[in-house]
Amino acid sequence: MNKNEKFRTKIIDMTNEGQGIGKCEGYTLFIKDTIIGDEVEGVVTKAKKHYGFGRMTALLSPSKDRVEPKCPVAKQCGGCQIQEMAYDKQLLFKKNKVVQNLEKIGGITEYEFDGVIGMDDPFYYRNKAQYPVGRDKNGRIITGFYAGRTHSIIGTEVCYLNHPVNEQITKIVKNWMEEAGVEPYHEEDGSGLVRHILTRVGFATGQIMVCLIINGGKIPAQEALVSALLQIDGMTSICLNVNKERTNVILGREIINLYGEGYIEDTIGDVCFRISPLSFYQVNPVQTAKLYGRALEYADLTGNEVVWDMYCGIGTISLFLAQKAKKVYGVEIVPEAIEDAKKNAALNHMDNAEFFVGKAEEVVPEFYEKSAADDGSHPDVVVVDPPRKGCDEALLCTIVKMAPKRMVYVSCDSATLARDLKYMKKNGYETKRVTVVDQFGHTGHVETVALLQCKR
Ligand code: SAH
Repeated sequence: MNKNEKFRTKIIDMTNEGQGIGKCEGYTLFIKDTIIGDEVEGVVTKAKKHYGFGRMTALLSPSKDRVEPKCPVAKQCGGCQIQEMAYDKQLLFKKNKVVQNLEKIGGITEYEFDGVIGMDDPFYYRNKAQYPVGRDKNGRIITGFYAGRTHSIIGTEVCYLNHPVNEQITKIVKNWMEEAGVEPYHEEDGSGLVRHILTRVGFATGQIMVCLIINGGKIPAQEALVSALLQIDGMTSICLNVNKERTNVILGREIINLYGEGYIEDTIGDVCFRISPLSFYQVNPVQTAKLYGRALEYADLTGNEVVWDMYCGIGTISLFLAQKAKKVYGVEIVPEAIEDAKKNAALNHMDNAEFFVGKAEEVVPEFYEKSAADDGSHPDVVVVDPPRKGCDEALLCTIVKMAPKRMVYVSCDSATLARDLKYMKKNGYETKRVTVVDQFGHTGHVETVALLQCKR
């Protein structure tokens, strides 16, 4: 097919990013805002040799799984991709995606499927929000979200994925900007002051953080902003983050505290975490607790085990496991995350967790080569939670040599999960159980936890 050519097709599948997939005489088309079962008319916007992208111009016959999205800007906004799909059908789509990938890519079919853990309420689930600040056509200050794949801001007061308190926060910041004559940042020429509003809410503690990302070192009428924000129940930390770079990266390195200690606290299960504006923290705490609960169940710890947690971030899973293990070793590439992990271990009075900075595929093989078989570092269980590209083969190879009884694989991309499970299968590890957990309702993303067992 060629660019601008018209087509008609039925949507038969969807991508991880939530685009519908249709076929036209064998040619594959990716079509935004469509879901499985839709019959659509559209036009090709970009044509490659074997596949292309299309825009829907008419919905000829809607899928029976369609619902009216709760959010009026669901279609324009880049945040949600599948809000127009009934939530139970979203879960089914995600389950099918995982099962298909495991089978097609990994040849993994003989395992117990332990179900899909969905959200009780798939709205207002995010504990972190980042609002770009700008002006609309009429010159009014707006906060909102970027339209898909662009940097034009869709002004919106409410996001149904974020905590409701954000509505109050963004209103206060906008009022303060209007009254104090504060200019939003302009990407085109690098002028203006306020770039983004970052908020975090501790769902378990009710503590709230507001951080303004600014193109400068201070703000006017600081007192007015702080006292207005302090009217909100639970306001614990108000700070500035300095970012004077002409970049798409949201946060700079420097933090200036305006109120509080520069962090909030939250708990997942019984473990407490201290979260600063720069720390990584899971964005859906309710589902994270369920995900880690399942990982812990699969790890099947009695208190005597040595566990390695690869790609440990700020030690969230490590500390969850440390509650039930003799010793946990965590490995993570970002030094600041490891600093947080150590602080979090101390905060929870856990002295059986040790952390290493570096690439897991380098640190772990090096450690293994040097360690003696009886030095107490040999794992009974290995947990991995890699980024989307999955585990490096050098790491998997060392895990096989370390010969843990069990491996628990937490994955945010079922395609690379399937590839890695295939490697482990070839090397004596069978996939025994699989659970799908929905951490990101209304988006195409899905988390999977798999339990592998050593056959030897
Ligand atoms: N387990 C953590 C974080 C998982 S996200 C949690 O649940 O919160 C994946 C983590 O892997 C990120 O923190 C990222 O910084 C880290 N990472 C990416 N590549 C890595 C590598 N090659 N070696 C070690 N860690 C890596």
